[in-house]
Amino acid sequence: MTKKNVVVPEAVAIAVAAPHGSAPLFPYPPPRASGGGAAGGFGIGRMLLTQLELGGRINAWVESMKASSPTHAKAAATLAAFPSTESSSSWIVKHPSALEVFDEIISQSKGKQIVMFLDYDGTLSPIVDDPDRAFMSDAMRAAVRNVARYFPTAIVSGRCRDKVYDFVRLAELYYAGSHGMDIKGPVKGPRYTKAKAKAVLFQPASEFLPMIDEIYKALLEKTKSIPGAKVENNKFCVSVHYRCVEEQKWVPLAEQVKAVIKEYPKLRITQGRKVLEIRPTIKWDKGKALEFLLESLGFANCNNVLPVYIGDDRTDEDAFKVLRERGQGFGILVSKIPKETNASYSLEEPSEVMDFLHRLVDWKRASLKARSRSVGSIRTSNP
Ligand SMILES: [Mg+2]
Repeated sequence: MTKKNVVVPEAVAIAVAAPHGSAPLFPYPPPRASGGGAAGGFGIGRMLLTQLELGGRINAWVESMKASSPTHAKAAATLAAFPSTESSSSWIVKHPSALEVFDEIISQSKGKQIVMFLDYDGTLSPIVDDPDRAFMSDAMRAAVRNVARYFPTAIVSGRCRDKVYDFVRLAELYYAGSHGMDIKGPVKGPRYTKAKAKAVLFQPASEFLPMIDEIYKALLEKTKSIPGAKVENNKFCVSVHYRCVEEQKWVPLAEQVKAVIKEYPKLRITQGRKVLEIRPTIKWDKGKALEFLLESLGFANCNNVLPVYIGDDRTDEDAFKVLRERGQGFGILVSKIPKETNASYSLEEPSEVMDFLHRLVDWKRASLKARSRSVGSIRTSNP
């Protein structure tokens, strides 16, 4: 696959996200983690933790929180003010729209089984203020159901598996909750594939359950004085949402979370879209979950598989990276603004994700119809 990433140099990247006059310590986009995989943390998460360990340069963390929230108005406005063009190689160029190059994508799938991996928040559902109300539309549910008729399909989310299942409510899918630390196969038998799908239930971080429970309670208690802060127990990780917290309160929130986390060296912090996530330091992430699911589906060492992963968040980068390193399949980043990413294509928002899923199903139906017509004509000519 052609490498389409054009990566902004770090110095320029800092300028992109920095509020006027400030000098954030964390570049945006963050540098890629250099080795160490998930255990080394994602670039920004690792730096964030280092900052915390160094003793509370909380303002730096807050800058990181602003920069890591892709919908942050200042960052978006700054990006909009500086057009990203091919001639200006110092800017990130937006990846081709998966809708515009749909035929190119389909040509890569010739002779291969497409396997779909879908993030939930910001991909199938809009990002909303109350994470408990991030419902997907019936139209999106129908689109995902249709996709699952033809392709093995998994939902991969940072949410707790039960919660994401309650949102999606499709028994024929695979679900990887808690960033892939809680994986379960379809309740309903898949109808789509010759792959040797087997019953799956995988929980690589089960020993952390009591600790996660404990930290959830501690974070609830510590953050209750911050209006708008919402702590969510995702079973194998805890999310502290700050989408409804005023920016002036981000410093106290950061301090409260820091005070709790320093007691737990076996946990680490990563950042998503307006959310801080506290999770075990095990080497497991959405990329590992993708590999595990491919293996469970019988595609471990196959060349005839095309995994497609659609996601909007930094945590989805682990899966994009796995696909890029395997040289197999591709990632699609859901984002309105250009970002550094290991994905190969982009879609702007969940409505475009739905359009893409529709087109995939339409193409599959048309190709099955064409195949059955050609089989019919061979039978007719060879009675
Ligand atoms: Mg997401």
